[in-house]
Amino acid sequence: MVTGGRVPRPAASERLTIKASAIVKLPHLEWVNQDSPYLRQHQQGFRGLRFDDELEQTFKRYHANVFLRRMRWALLVATLLAMLFVLLDAINMPDPLRGQVLTLRLGVIQPLLLLAWVATYQRSLRDHLQWVGGLVALLSGLAVAGIIGLARYHSFALPYEGIILVTVFFYFLTGLRFTTAVLCGWLTLLAYLAVELSVGLAGELLLSNVLFLTLANIIGSVGCYSLEYATRQNFLAHGLLQDLAEKDFLTGLLNRRAFTERAELSWRQAQREKQALGVVMMDVDFFKRYNDHYGHAAGDEALRQVSRVIGEHARRPLDCAARYGGEEFVGIWYGLTEEQLLTIMENIRAGIEALALSHVGSDAANVVTLSLGMAYVTPQTHQSLEDALRLADVALYLAKEQGRNRVVAKKQAS
Ligand code: GH3
Ligand code: MG
Ligand code: MG
Repeated sequence: MVTGGRVPRPAASERLTIKASAIVKLPHLEWVNQDSPYLRQHQQGFRGLRFDDELEQTFKRYHANVFLRRMRWALLVATLLAMLFVLLDAINMPDPLRGQVLTLRLGVIQPLLLLAWVATYQRSLRDHLQWVGGLVALLSGLAVAGIIGLARYHSFALPYEGIILVTVFFYFLTGLRFTTAVLCGWLTLLAYLAVELSVGLAGELLLSNVLFLTLANIIGSVGCYSLEYATRQNFLAHGLLQDLAEKDFLTGLLNRRAFTERAELSWRQAQREKQALGVVMMDVDFFKRYNDHYGHAAGDEALRQVSRVIGEHARRPLDCAARYGGEEFVGIWYGLTEEQLLTIMENIRAGIEALALSHVGSDAANVVTLSLGMAYVTPQTHQSLEDALRLADVALYLAKEQGRNRVVAKKQAS
């Protein structure tokens, strides 16, 4: 078996490294598969705090998980603080203001905070927590502005700083993403302004209050942007490291180590569920001659195209395909009948032939072709994945011997 293709090593000046400001410093990125969505996004940048669609969805889930605990704690702290203000208002405020304010606090703010807190424990709401959190934050902000308005209306000297406290809370403690936090912060400011204008607060005082609140929003927006930017950087670094560890640099398929890990999972699952597996070894025919004739770079491109075809046929969660080394590939397919497996293998073989990559040095065809050896097994406790791989290798050897560009299957005795 041939292991590992030659890897070009660009000059140091061509190397990509994540900026020194990044939380994680990465090793050389030329070792990452060049089709990696993480690498592409890293190169494109994300100043607008948005990734390409597919990555953005993954990031949202990552963000929700990273900030879940913070959101829970923030909601608990907010509930406790809100209770403290209930007490203060109950002691300090005159009637009928007290009744109105307590109605807002106990009838709107507290239930909202409680509902959001419960929502953080609902798995089904995990994808919607930004919405829920944002809505609760905004309504709470509006309610606080309302309380200030009521106090002004009854000429009660309630400090306006409460709204600054709420604003800072939005930006830094809630785990809201930039856009949501900015919407909450600035809309609350507008609501506060509207309230003060409607009760006719004196010009200078209003100016000073609005100035401070605007500054709090600017600082919050900048801080929140940096926080989300760093979180996105971290997410990309995480993804790049994972790709580096698990993916083959040339083809983007899993590497051998990652394959072994995943295949073991499928193997154990099949053992438990008494399901059959197709364990398949694949090898490009006369590939040495291809390299010799067309050059190594063309060989690399051919391997990429072959990998794409193989990968397209192993998309279900418990299936996987990998580059085993050199021009050898390996795959595992879960819970199919022998006929279904043979159809998939035949589709792979035909798909590679259909790439029509001209190969004048091949004795098997005039294009690049693939030989496949499949072990069809229903894993028993005394059998191991290595046994199945060995059997698949025997089948592959037979496929080569029988003329290449074909599928040979062998059944493992139970
Ligand atoms: P067979 O049909 O018996 O498999 O013949 P073969 O020539 O394919 O077999 P062999 O194992 O002797 O040759 C494999 C060749 O694959 C040798 C090497 O040049 C080439 N190879 C291995 N890894 C890479 C790679 O990463 N890139 C390129 N371009 N070629 C590679
Ligand atoms: Mg080989
Ligand atoms: Mg070969």
